[in-house]
Amino acid sequence: MAQMITSGKETVRSKTVLLYSGGMDSLIIDHLLKPDVLLNISMNSAYDARERESFPDKEIVFLDNVIDLGRYERDDAIIPNRNAHLVLLASHYGETIWLGSVYGDRSFDKDEAFYSHMTTLLDHMWSEQHWTEERKFMISSPFKDKTKTQLVYEFLEMDGTEEALLTSYSCYEGDEKHCGHCKACFRKWVALENNGIITSNGYFKENPWDAPWLDEVLIQIFNGGYRGREDKDIIYALDKTPKHTLLDHYQTQAGHLLRTKEFKL
Ligand SMILES: [Zn+2]
Repeated sequence: MAQMITSGKETVRSKTVLLYSGGMDSLIIDHLLKPDVLLNISMNSAYDARERESFPDKEIVFLDNVIDLGRYERDDAIIPNRNAHLVLLASHYGETIWLGSVYGDRSFDKDEAFYSHMTTLLDHMWSEQHWTEERKFMISSPFKDKTKTQLVYEFLEMDGTEEALLTSYSCYEGDEKHCGHCKACFRKWVALENNGIITSNGYFKENPWDAPWLDEVLIQIFNGGYRGREDKDIIYALDKTPKHTLLDHYQTQAGHLLRTKEFKL
């Protein structure tokens, strides 16, 4: 518990901490970079408990009953700015703090500006003063330049197993099985599909390519304006599904929109 802060603060110096959710990204980063501490913070969210069921059998620091961010969870499962809370807590366990974020994540609490601001803020708060010696921090996502598809590829190259990826859990629904339709499920499917990992055997409750929100963003995806480079990964995965018959239509529409925009400029 809080002992680390009061009596053992020197033991956290120079340690690397990974905020560990048990989702694919944090599982892979753990495998590739082997941080000193895996920190799982319960936020009292709808999916906390199910996530923990998926955890591998290894040493993980569990932090419970410290924050109740679940009360701020929106209908779409986003907890606004949650990473700011998590990083502040992680600062009690180490000085290099990694978040499992990849290219294509869009929230401003896991982008480069956020990491830079949090590093500056923590350095300031942990400047030498009457109650503490100086501590220096580095907050980052080591694989922020890679898409989830690329990260899975790297994991498999470095002897990561398909089984570990499939056991990991990141569905916003929090049910036993992955729902297949939430954004977390969809992006996981894209990354697995593009790396040849079979999920067509009922791994997802519903087919990810049938996600109801997908049609609304397909034009954006063809314009590369949904998740940047990840959009190409999405198209590559969709092209191998029954959805591929509709892709030409969206591609044409997207091209038309782009031309109209250029004309207006
Ligand atoms: Zn889901």
